[in-house]
Amino acid sequence: MPVTPADSTVLGFEEARRVVEEHAARVPPSPTESVDLLSSAGRVLAEPVLADRDLPPFPRSTRDGYAVRSADLAKLPAPLDVIGEIKAGESADRIPIGIGPGQSVSIMTGAPVPNGADAVVMVEYTTRSGDRVEITRSASPGDNIVPRGAEARQNSLLLDHGVRLTPAAIALAASVGKSHLKVHKRPRVAVLTTGDEIVDVNSVPGPTQIRNSNGYSLAAQIQQAGAEPILLPVAPDEPRALRRLIEDGLQSDLLLMSGGVSMGRYDLVEQVLSEIGAEFFFTGAKIQPGRPVVFGKCVAGRYEEDWSTVATPARRGSSASHRASYFFGLPGNPVSTMVTFELFARPMLEALSGQSPRKLIYLHAHLKSEIRTKPGLTRFLPAILSGEFENTTVELVPWQGSGDIAASARSNCYIVIPPDREFIAAGENVAVMLR
Ligand code: AMP
Ligand code: MG
Repeated sequence: MPVTPADSTVLGFEEARRVVEEHAARVPPSPTESVDLLSSAGRVLAEPVLADRDLPPFPRSTRDGYAVRSADLAKLPAPLDVIGEIKAGESADRIPIGIGPGQSVSIMTGAPVPNGADAVVMVEYTTRSGDRVEITRSASPGDNIVPRGAEARQNSLLLDHGVRLTPAAIALAASVGKSHLKVHKRPRVAVLTTGDEIVDVNSVPGPTQIRNSNGYSLAAQIQQAGAEPILLPVAPDEPRALRRLIEDGLQSDLLLMSGGVSMGRYDLVEQVLSEIGAEFFFTGAKIQPGRPVVFGKCVAGRYEEDWSTVATPARRGSSASHRASYFFGLPGNPVSTMVTFELFARPMLEALSGQSPRKLIYLHAHLKSEIRTKPGLTRFLPAILSGEFENTTVELVPWQGSGDIAASARSNCYIVIPPDREFIAAGENVAVMLR
């Protein structure tokens, strides 16, 4: 049930996240295009990729050594005849009748194993002299051989729709001959920062002015999440101008706003959104930082009127078929903006980009120094993860609160503190969210 800011719906973290996930599950993904495999890193697959043949296409030796019959190695050392050699790229037909009892073939990594052999012994366990080799290690059937089709059968599904292309996925696509891939277009995400005190990065700020950092952190997060940011001009804390920019931003695939969602007299974002008929799914989450975060949707048409024919920065090139008018109002404090993007905006953006939904992933690490907090909020506090193998440790970065960009830049993760915890002792295993 949508709410207006008057109803002010503040949800617990898990519930707020679930609300976003439910909406994300229903948004249509952006249209598709074809990209060269070389430019496909980070893109989202819009077609299944199948094995064009068995992988491997022949029983493959995983070592340099000798293809043998394992039964011949019951007594060691075992002297065998060497009846030939097969290197990678050569056919096993070089040994047409295969190897018989007491015989072996010199074989290289990646070469096909000849008929009759059921194991490969590493060259390190052999001594060659002329046409004879002495084997000093026993072998079991299958040792150092990957059977034909063991990695994938011809026509089986290797990569599905909705996979974000990692280097490994790209290697797999290359291995089955896909020089081009059908992927989803990058969704276009409008970024609207608000605040009378905010000036652009190129300006010399007056004594009480603040440079716009949120526009840039959001643009970077949007790019990392696989979408294209469109930075709108900074909106003043004045309803008419703010409204025009919000209406423009709603023409993109997703609108992210920063600032203007708290309780101050000049926090006008929710008021303006209400005026244009927005539905609000929540107007706050019980989290720190980022409590005033807002999530909602504008029903297309209700806010457009005579404005709909104007070519605006956010409208240009946006995929008209699904001009989803979802928006997030992210709190303006820079750490809050970054955290709330990760927690709430990212899943929506991933869905728009065609990605299959995924849950937040938490790691666990030993806390270096105790933490005391007040209960009631789920906290995502900037921290540093470090340590050794089997003893990963984490500690909070000292900070001046959610405006402290310098502390945030020193951190590499967030410690996640559940709302029922007041005290966490040093050495305890705590949840950590990477970023
Ligand atoms: P607000 O959410 O608008 O009340 O802003 C909270 C705090 O974040 C204030 O100290 C703002 O000056 C600061 N802030 C808001 N927007 C930005 C921005 N784009 N870049 C840097 N700081 C900002
Ligand atoms: Mg403000």
